[in-house]
Amino acid sequence: MKIDTAYNGVAYAHNGKITISSEWLRKKPEDIDVITHEVMHIVQSYPHKSGPGWLTEGIADYVRHVYGVDNKRAGWSLTGYSADNHYTQSYRITARFLLWITQKYDKTLVLKLDKHLREKTYHEELWEKYTGKSLEDLWKEYQSAPQLS
Ligand SMILES: [Zn+2]
Repeated sequence: MKIDTAYNGVAYAHNGKITISSEWLRKKPEDIDVITHEVMHIVQSYPHKSGPGWLTEGIADYVRHVYGVDNKRAGWSLTGYSADNHYTQSYRITARFLLWITQKYDKTLVLKLDKHLREKTYHEELWEKYTGKSLEDLWKEYQSAPQLS
């Protein structure tokens, strides 16, 4: 893990290493779980073109939500649903949708999707295989009743 004084973004993972902006840490010293998100990218290390980028980012934020050490102190939580959301918007928007599906249809869906992405066997029909509903139908249902339990 490297703290970079020249990097203007927040953080990124690449080739098994995490880079975090020193400026970000100065501004948000309580944001420990930015590391949880980035470490998940190292855990993921999906092969090239194994699946959509929004899903990779959504899973990383889902993991931050589930396994984060202190999201509360960082003021980080899953974004509430809003009508202009779409699951392809990545990060917390996708993570919240994933959480909703795990609560409603399949507790282990994220684990299964992760395995498929890892093995380069992800395809869109998997959503239907595991939930009985297509990705688009899941999204429509989520839009009409996005409450989490
Ligand atoms: Zn990320």
